[in-house]
Amino acid sequence: MKKILVIDDSGVQRKMIVQIIKKAGFENEILEAPDGAVGIETLAGNFQDVALVLCDWNMPNMSGIEFVGAVAKVPAVAEIPVIMVTTEGTDDKIAEAKAANPNLAGYIPKPFTPDQLKAAIDPILNAAG
Ligand SMILES: [Mg+2]
Repeated sequence: MKKILVIDDSGVQRKMIVQIIKKAGFENEILEAPDGAVGIETLAGNFQDVALVLCDWNMPNMSGIEFVGAVAKVPAVAEIPVIMVTTEGTDDKIAEAKAANPNLAGYIPKPFTPDQLKAAIDPILNAAG
């Protein structure tokens, strides 16, 4: 079973996302990173095993928008579905994220409900097997 990578500078937010995923019944191993830079390192070490990345926007060192842009430029990881989970929910920001990464698999505005998160990740993880 493939892994899920959760990138968010808030430990509380990561914990909440991890709990929602587990409560929803997914048994995938979950990797965590506190910013885009560590996210890139983590992805580089696990890219063949990662089925899904959930990524915050506002983070120190490397933001989510920089992360999704960087991922889109590297063929080995460009196809990995990335869902942004962020307070940046305006149409302009969503368009900016899609411009940075045309393969963006989803966009979840904070605050979100467990059902919203589950509905976004369900088809991706089921397809990944
Ligand atoms: Mg943040």
